[in-house]
Amino acid sequence: MTLDDIATTLLEQRIAGEVLRPADAGFAQARAEAVFNGDIRRQPALIVRPTSTEDVARAIVWVREQGADLTVRGGGHSGSGACVAEGAVMLDLSRLADVRIDPGTRRAHVGGGATWAAVDAATAPHGLAVVGGTVSHTGVAGLTLSGGMGWLTARQGLSSDNLVEATLVTADGRVVTASEQSEPELFWGLRGAGANFGVVTEFVFALHEVDPMADLGLFFWRAEDAAEPLRLAREHLFGLPDGMGAVVVGLSAPPEPFVPEEHRGIPGIAVVVVGWGDPELHAAAVAPLRELGPLFELVTPIPHVALQQMLDAGNPWGILAYDKGLNLDDLSDEVIEVLLTRLPRKRSPLSYMPIFALTGRYREIPDDATAWGTPRSARWATAIVAFAEDEGTLAAERAWARDLWQALEPHARRDSVYVNFEAELDDARVRATYGAKYGRLADLKAEWDPDNVFRHNANIAPAAAVDVPAPRTAARPATRPATRPATRPATQPAP
Ligand code: FAD
Repeated sequence: MTLDDIATTLLEQRIAGEVLRPADAGFAQARAEAVFNGDIRRQPALIVRPTSTEDVARAIVWVREQGADLTVRGGGHSGSGACVAEGAVMLDLSRLADVRIDPGTRRAHVGGGATWAAVDAATAPHGLAVVGGTVSHTGVAGLTLSGGMGWLTARQGLSSDNLVEATLVTADGRVVTASEQSEPELFWGLRGAGANFGVVTEFVFALHEVDPMADLGLFFWRAEDAAEPLRLAREHLFGLPDGMGAVVVGLSAPPEPFVPEEHRGIPGIAVVVVGWGDPELHAAAVAPLRELGPLFELVTPIPHVALQQMLDAGNPWGILAYDKGLNLDDLSDEVIEVLLTRLPRKRSPLSYMPIFALTGRYREIPDDATAWGTPRSARWATAIVAFAEDEGTLAAERAWARDLWQALEPHARRDSVYVNFEAELDDARVRATYGAKYGRLADLKAEWDPDNVFRHNANIAPAAAVDVPAPRTAARPATRPATRPATRPATQPAP
């Protein structure tokens, strides 16, 4: 779509932030910086970089006046590239990335375009932290709004479980505060299906004391030697003391100093256990893994902030990527057999498969407390991540990921997937994931975004108009009301 130039100039006058047209000098760089996955080639018609909530509201109203398609970019990490659509206006929140800590109330106020690196940097000096992703350049927004798991999940649950308030701009340009006290139903929906209801410009998270030093234990076995370690891990990781975090990873031994040169590139399984503040307890917890004679190991104290960045180098910005997700109840013998035969068939040493152990605090939170789609009884959430440096290799890796996914699928939960781990979500899988919650979310969608303006996401279709509750009046208008474009189909964006 070509946007009217006079109208675009009007937008420039309305907002304090930047408006970039394809012909502008900074456009190509802004587009490259916006999207993690180098395999996404789509080009927006305009990149808008608001610097305030008011800017966001004015930009949304303007986009709707133009009848244009809108995408929202938080950290740009989604595997499907949901933050960019061909010919759409990209609302790039990278200039709304401040993080402010209130150590007294133990709250973090986080801009809608912040990354986890910024959150960790701000919280660590206070000996505080909130669970975020395992790669620090991931966006806080997309991760939190659909769940969010990381090293601290066993102690704190999901990122969304720690959200206490959000400020968002809705489809008609209103600014709304959502919390347990204000718009509680919307707050419920934001914690799991949150990309559907508006643009979150500020998150408020509860912070927790976390020892600044973590203890890392990483143990690696060749695929042919990994069956016994995986059988141990499937029980052992669920009995770890004191909220220790654990992830099983299928990967190629990385070219890191702690890996002997002759082992680098060998495909295998790593079991990683992290503890905080009690090295002896951690040593005891990893002893059974060590007894199984790994090919190599890394057991070391590590600053919490460095732990959060440990995987950054293996996940470089601009890499060609494709991912598929699955939830598993058990690392059964059949699952282990599939993993160990098919994992080594990958061609790219960069491709990997994290399998998050969903333990501890995560399991204590009731299923209906939030809109998180995965039933908390599922024990493992996994992503099959294909990474390649060229298109030919990516084609092979994509086929590898699909083959492994298909072989695992008969053993996986049919009722859910972590939507953030899946590049090819269709409507059926979204509905299956939210299950009994889908109807409640569809009502919320009809109330807050009846025209499905926010549609480039794990999309909830608005409930039929007859079911729509009366509009709210509590929210304060940020700008003049929008004219509504025709209702759009509630489907996923074309890849
Ligand atoms: P974006 O692509 O910017 O946005 C994703 C979705 O959220 C889009 O639909 C977008 O419209 C919407 N959105 C973005 N910002 C806002 C906003 N402010 N308001 C409303 N909607 C918004 N997940 C985990 O849970 N744990 C991990 O450890 C983890 N590691 C990852 C590592 C890598 C290398 C990658 C690529 C992904 C990882 N993920 C992980 C998945 C991650 O949760 C998703 O990719 C998530 O979508 C990233 O959010 P983002 O803001 O960076 O993405």
